[in-house]
Amino acid sequence: TDIKELLLSRIRDVADYPEPGVMFKDITPLLADPAAFTALTDAFAEIAERTGATKVVGLEARGFILGAPVAVRAGLGFIPVRKAGKLPGATLSQAYDLEYGSAEIEVHAEDLSAEDRILIVDDVLATGGTAEASIQLIHRAGAEIAGVAVLMELAFLNGRPRLEAALDGAPLEAL
Ligand code: IMP
Repeated sequence: TDIKELLLSRIRDVADYPEPGVMFKDITPLLADPAAFTALTDAFAEIAERTGATKVVGLEARGFILGAPVAVRAGLGFIPVRKAGKLPGATLSQAYDLEYGSAEIEVHAEDLSAEDRILIVDDVLATGGTAEASIQLIHRAGAEIAGVAVLMELAFLNGRPRLEAALDGAPLEAL
């Protein structure tokens, strides 16, 4: 479709970044193009409305850039999920494994309630580890998942099957 072509044309492939053998998907050309950034925001906002989301969660750091305008466009609140140690209030935290080592993400506990249905927004779904940990965090806060929306899914890394159980029927939408 037209929007898919537009978005794809504004994503830059950077070889051997951040380490040899990795093809990094750089979204900064898309952010710099108002037509593409607006089309992306509108598409994500449509998903938020269609899935009955009550809040948007953005994953640090590119999920903040993409998720915040979606929240504004859809008339919803925005909640940051941050790397451990960055949020000043009472947090819930979730550790998860990386290829080498582990990582930990946090959210302010008071930002989520049992009435919430959360749309998670990020730029890239790779192995799915970050999104899976985010879903676990949101569930532990008592909220529901409306869906996960990403710009790109790197299907060869098998994030989608990994997320299936955690999603429990909620959609994973990759534009
Ligand atoms: P995962 O946890 O393996 O699914 O990795 C997803 C996280 O890593 C997301 O927060 C992405 O922003 C980031 N990421 C992984 N690969 C890329 C890439 O090629 N470009 C931009 N971000 C990436």
